[in-house]
Amino acid sequence: MTRTALAKQVGVTPRVLAYYEEESRAPSADVLKRLAAALDVPVDFFSAPELEEIPTDAASFRALTKMSAGRRDAALASGGLAIQLNDWLEARLNLPAPDVPRYERAAGDPAGAAQRLRFEWELGYRRIDNVVHLLEAHGVRVFSLPEHLADVDAFSFWWRGTPVVLLNTRKSAERGRFDAAHELGHLVIHSDYDLPRGRDRELEANRFAAAFLMPEEDVLASGLRNAGPDRVISAKKRWGVAAMALAHRLHELGLTTDWTYASTCRRLSQLGYRSSEPDGGVRETSKLLEKSFGLMRQRGIGIPEVARELRLHPATLRELLFGLTLTAVSGGRMEKGVATGPPPRLQLLT
Ligand SMILES: [Zn+2]
Repeated sequence: MTRTALAKQVGVTPRVLAYYEEESRAPSADVLKRLAAALDVPVDFFSAPELEEIPTDAASFRALTKMSAGRRDAALASGGLAIQLNDWLEARLNLPAPDVPRYERAAGDPAGAAQRLRFEWELGYRRIDNVVHLLEAHGVRVFSLPEHLADVDAFSFWWRGTPVVLLNTRKSAERGRFDAAHELGHLVIHSDYDLPRGRDRELEANRFAAAFLMPEEDVLASGLRNAGPDRVISAKKRWGVAAMALAHRLHELGLTTDWTYASTCRRLSQLGYRSSEPDGGVRETSKLLEKSFGLMRQRGIGIPEVARELRLHPATLRELLFGLTLTAVSGGRMEKGVATGPPPRLQLLT
């Protein structure tokens, strides 16, 4: 929201709004209420400690050229809320420690890096059943992007040694998996020295994702030489990828000719596979967050309570949590008070 738009909605001049931002003037209680309503936060959000700010160049955005600075900042602000929530959880629960390597000078060989990581994580050439759960088991914190950022692709960043990924949940399950693998690629192969982040970085992350989800050896052994659209559509489930992504991978590995690839893409487009996945699978969501909030629930702390502590609306929190809803604790007795003993350790098996 621009300052002018906000000022109009709140009923003050943009200049007065600037005074509030500079803290050279304080809004009246009434104006504060209107500001909170316009920005969809509780009034006490404004008196919360300063939010951590993610540096502008810490994250890579796919459609950067098309994206305004305002949208980028909004996305990064969501990342800031995600960090805040993560810190809150980490103070109370024993979450998986980050176990994501950063390969030096790997940007030139994304496919090699993907293979190396597969072996480091002892995946071999196995199918990855759930990319989000895999990332979480290795200490990546995965959140969902709020509804108002539906136009933003996934993004990721390192935050004080912890890898963080925000995913757009409005895409198909297959594209969501690819996005998660793409962001993993950024985290693994792009060091802070790989700036500025641009189109090359995006292509490298895509190559990493394709190789990570569809290992070369496995694809070569799958008997898909010269596969047309029908075989691509039936084979894609093996890797949990979009038909277009598999067609691209077959071509990249020399299993299809330029001509077959072009005609397959055309046909897939006609069948609706360019913009969506007609026979798509079930969207992946976070297991770590579900388990964490399940544990908090046992202590009588639900999303509303966490939201109150973070000075946010519960709905704002839920948007970061893949829309997580938790049923009440069985028996209905709320346990209040401080938990004793060491924080519970969360085990995530993939
Ligand atoms: Zn990217």
